[in-house]
Amino acid sequence: MFWLKTELWTAEVVYAGFGTPMLRGALAVQGGHVVGVGSLEALQARFPGAPVVAKGKALLPPPVNAHTHLDLSLLPLYQGPFAGFLPHVVAHREKRGLLGARRGLEELLTSGVGAFADIVFKDEVMDFLLLESPLPGVAFYEVFAPDPKEAEEVFARVKAKVEGWRRREGRVKVGLSPHAPYSVSPSLLKRLAQYAQAEGIPLMVHVAESPEEVAFLREGKGPLAEVYRRFSPTPFTPPGLTPVRHLHALGVLGPHTLLVHGVQVDEEEVALLAETGTKVVLCPRSNQNLEVGEAPIPLYARYGVELALGTDSRASSPDLDVRQEALFLWGKVDPRLLVRALTRGGYRALGLATPRITRGTPVSLVHSL
Ligand SMILES: [Zn+2]
Repeated sequence: MFWLKTELWTAEVVYAGFGTPMLRGALAVQGGHVVGVGSLEALQARFPGAPVVAKGKALLPPPVNAHTHLDLSLLPLYQGPFAGFLPHVVAHREKRGLLGARRGLEELLTSGVGAFADIVFKDEVMDFLLLESPLPGVAFYEVFAPDPKEAEEVFARVKAKVEGWRRREGRVKVGLSPHAPYSVSPSLLKRLAQYAQAEGIPLMVHVAESPEEVAFLREGKGPLAEVYRRFSPTPFTPPGLTPVRHLHALGVLGPHTLLVHGVQVDEEEVALLAETGTKVVLCPRSNQNLEVGEAPIPLYARYGVELALGTDSRASSPDLDVRQEALFLWGKVDPRLLVRALTRGGYRALGLATPRITRGTPVSLVHSL
């Protein structure tokens, strides 16, 4: 009789895409397929004598890059104070567009992700992703309109575009991304959130990223005041609230809302995010490059906020490989949280089912860190 050789693959964390990520877990692998999932001890008992192969930090289903701006892939990397980032993007705006998006999508595919969330600034990029992306995901159309006087006109224009694109949804779904609470007027944020909730459209908002954002929303002060004046002839009226509370007051939080960054949050705000079912996408390497601090991951975990990971764009991140975000945080927080955020957290944020590693799964679908 011919026996296929069985190996037991193990790693610091083994996650099958459901249940709890395992410490001391393993996969039994035979002839290119998974034949067992469980604790290393249990699998050693089932497959006595099978060699144990260490596969690094983690074994997991394909990860998700839950926040990118593919169209910024040709921009130079910015490292420096947060308030200089937006001017950096504007200064290189001629490099932003379809060419960058194509390059970015290639890089995303090479990185081996199973799904993605992208912020789309130009119509041609939305058309491209809807028509050509082989990866499932959500393309969030970005709205940048700080002047409250423009709110009605911008809303009407955005709604018409989104309606058209939604008729062409396939593998890639359409979402809406009011850029940030300092770059979209309160009245427009409210309208967009109401529209998105009524239509079941996912929302993605950059929020609570920097101390400068907090100072600007609370008091209208700091370096963002100058940036704001470049984009809005109407003076800014600070809401006097922290970013997450401001979004809550406008009805933006909820289970279909993904907040990106979430660095500047206190415990009450984290509780609010948990209560409303709002999800948070972390971009730790971008946060380091923009000198904004670190998100309080243990606090999010304590309240059960669903976390995902994203690279952000090549303008603030050295590459689009989301696994590097988890490796960047490895050793600083419970690694099971990172593996879950890379996979289940990301798929849930995008409204997709998490691929499962079970008996019969080909090893090509088992990823490692
Ligand atoms: Zn971003």
